[in-house]
Amino acid sequence: MSSPLQISRDQALRQRFEGTIAKARSHPVPGSFVDTVEKPLLPAEVLRGDRASTDRPKNRLARPPVQVKASRGGGKGFFGGIISGIGKAFGSVFKGIGKAFGSVFKGIGKAFGALIGKGVDCAVLGLAGFVERIQGLFSKGRSLTDDQKVRYRNVYGSTVDLDSVRIRRGGPLSWGASKTIGNTIFLQDDCFDANGQLNELGKNTLDHEMAHIWQYQNGGSDYIHGSIFAQAMGMVTDGDRRAAYDWRSAFNDGLAFCDLNPEQQASLIATATRLSPNGGPIEARSSITEAEAAYLNAALAEVRAGRGAP
Ligand SMILES: [Zn+2]
Repeated sequence: MSSPLQISRDQALRQRFEGTIAKARSHPVPGSFVDTVEKPLLPAEVLRGDRASTDRPKNRLARPPVQVKASRGGGKGFFGGIISGIGKAFGSVFKGIGKAFGSVFKGIGKAFGALIGKGVDCAVLGLAGFVERIQGLFSKGRSLTDDQKVRYRNVYGSTVDLDSVRIRRGGPLSWGASKTIGNTIFLQDDCFDANGQLNELGKNTLDHEMAHIWQYQNGGSDYIHGSIFAQAMGMVTDGDRRAAYDWRSAFNDGLAFCDLNPEQQASLIATATRLSPNGGPIEARSSITEAEAAYLNAALAEVRAGRGAP
């Protein structure tokens, strides 16, 4: 329960960041570069159809319209495409970050630096249209086991294509923190036991990362920058990125499921998964109040309806 003092502090924080959050939600999606963009480079007189200029052009600018198209596959070669994809992804990410945070907080750069240093849940590497390329590279990870499929079918119903989920162990993309990029879950080495099976940490982490899979399949890759933003906010407001994961504070604030940040949603769904692995209604117990159980059940209904993803 929050004390009156806590509530007023939260309200003050919320007012303080309201504008920023609104901006972040509306800032251009980094992944939008994958769309095809017509970019006419012809001089205006050519576009108007002036005869003199439509003759064989001497003007260097007078070249055919260029179609700028990010590659999702073929075209310029696999690695060339990747390098170009990385460049574009980072370019638009930093542009997006600049727009969203710009001059709003002086300390935000520091928060991001600290986040990247510690490893963000949804890493910077996973940003933007880079998601599709990462998936192509790592599509050979292991599939969910039959038991895991049953567990997650009970939670998500038909809103997640469980067959397309891949789990990868270790590697550069698990550095810093386990994370989900598109349909691929990158788990750190410490999630596995000596036999290569998931340990308790691994099972709990998988419950959490599966929620990001649901977000990806039901809302696209927006969850990634929403997650990083929430973690940066956690750093700024509470000095800890993990503050972003606190679904109970959202519950105490009366927020609807669709208004939770991506990490709050994932933590809530992971909690619900553990409390109801068979998919039945969650009941109050020592760790969950009656009102919290009702909140979790309402959220699960949204999840199973495919509603509320970032
Ligand atoms: Zn997460």
